[in-house]
Amino acid sequence: MDHLRHRHASLCRQWFEELQLIELESGLLQIQTSNRVQQNYLQRKCLDQFTEAAQTATGALVAVRFVSGDEARRSDSQQTRRPPLDGPESFSQQTIATKTELSTTATTGAAVALSSDRADLEFEPMLISPDYSFENFITGPNNQLACAAAIAVANQPGTSYNPLFIHGGVGLGKTHLLQAICQSIIQQDGDKRIYYISCDAFMNQFIECVKRGRMAEFRDCYRHVNVLVIDDIHFLANRERSQEEFFHTFNALYQSNRQIILSSDSPPSEIPQLEERLISRFGWGLVANVTQPSYETRVAIIQAKASLRGITIPEDVVRYLASKIDSNARELEGAIVTLQGHAALQSQSIDMTLARTVLGDSSNQQHRHQITLQNIIDAVTAYYNVKLSDLQSKRRHKSITQPRQVCMWLARKHTRYSLEEIGGYFGGRDHTTVMHSIRTVGDRVGTNTHFCGEVDEIENMILSRG
Ligand code: ADP
Ligand code: MG
Repeated sequence: MDHLRHRHASLCRQWFEELQLIELESGLLQIQTSNRVQQNYLQRKCLDQFTEAAQTATGALVAVRFVSGDEARRSDSQQTRRPPLDGPESFSQQTIATKTELSTTATTGAAVALSSDRADLEFEPMLISPDYSFENFITGPNNQLACAAAIAVANQPGTSYNPLFIHGGVGLGKTHLLQAICQSIIQQDGDKRIYYISCDAFMNQFIECVKRGRMAEFRDCYRHVNVLVIDDIHFLANRERSQEEFFHTFNALYQSNRQIILSSDSPPSEIPQLEERLISRFGWGLVANVTQPSYETRVAIIQAKASLRGITIPEDVVRYLASKIDSNARELEGAIVTLQGHAALQSQSIDMTLARTVLGDSSNQQHRHQITLQNIIDAVTAYYNVKLSDLQSKRRHKSITQPRQVCMWLARKHTRYSLEEIGGYFGGRDHTTVMHSIRTVGDRVGTNTHFCGEVDEIENMILSRG
């Protein structure tokens, strides 16, 4: 643990304290987690770091495996039980893999080892983060209704509000609430089949199944879940065939009282090019909005995030952050991670001096207005050594898409341009593409320290020139 805290501070969470070393036998260290959500998360996100720590601590070549408390209890029955969605013997190997994965996801609410073995990543379900629970969600006037509805749905899926449709801007807690519902349902009833997926993944699976002539299996999978959770459903905009398919999935689930939970960046009626019949269905249950948190809620969110990460942030720094960063919770969390990183690097504790030095400029509202799109483009093209014409082109090579996405993310953060304007500037892309890019960069900044450093450096370049 000490090794992890020193070398991978941003990875550590308070709940790691609950982990227990079970045994070290023949080079395999088994670590027991409290539940399957933790187990899956650690296995997928933290295995390398734990392995490194175990090897440093023991000085030996050790492999790490996470097991969950309920795994031992279940393992007997699972060996004999057929996965609930498994199909007839005649299915191809590939289909069975997909189905088994789906069904396992359904009962555990997160990806299992099976999925990471699969070459076909299109079918990988989304991972649930133990951080995104109701306990860690701070309610305020900005999200009270959405949170209350989420709790009601988690307690009685399929009966209270169906569908539950949560909408709001970037970083306001939609994904957090969706995952909290999944976790709460899993805790209450481990056998409920929950399928949690992004709209992007839903569409990719759909396209893939059409191509391979596997639509029957696709439908079968989707229509046998108890709870279907789709994040960022606004990506259905302009996708006619996916909308058509989703419409039928929706009807099938709705008619059999299965719970449907959706999130979106805008209310149903404002999703561009969304079919009327879907707009109306989305409104059948409850449509709840999340908006920007107030100062008090921001203070509480900072405190919750700090305690989740097991770090202490003095009162004055908390107030400083809450007043400086007023846009959304994701930026608050970003600031905490940045502060934590700098504190660890300089082996000092977090205080006002550090906060001012590290965040002083980048989160300063007045400064923000002075930054132009040109400043951003200058810095990004210089840093990645690409041309503006490439960024504005249709090219999709990674060497171009990444700088383009970073540009969009920075433009959104530091300028007042709308998603449409940013998309228009970078090669006439529509606003959903811009949203997607911003999300991708935001997620990577939060999970990849190297990438976070890159973006930091570019921001510093902009700030020092701007
Ligand atoms: P969205 O899906 O709306 O873009 P997320 O759910 O990904 O936003 O939230 C971004 C970050 O902000 C996450 O780390 C999340 O835990 C945090 N967050 C957002 N709202 C809250 C809240 N009310 N309480 C605690 N954390 C929050
Ligand atoms: Mg989200």
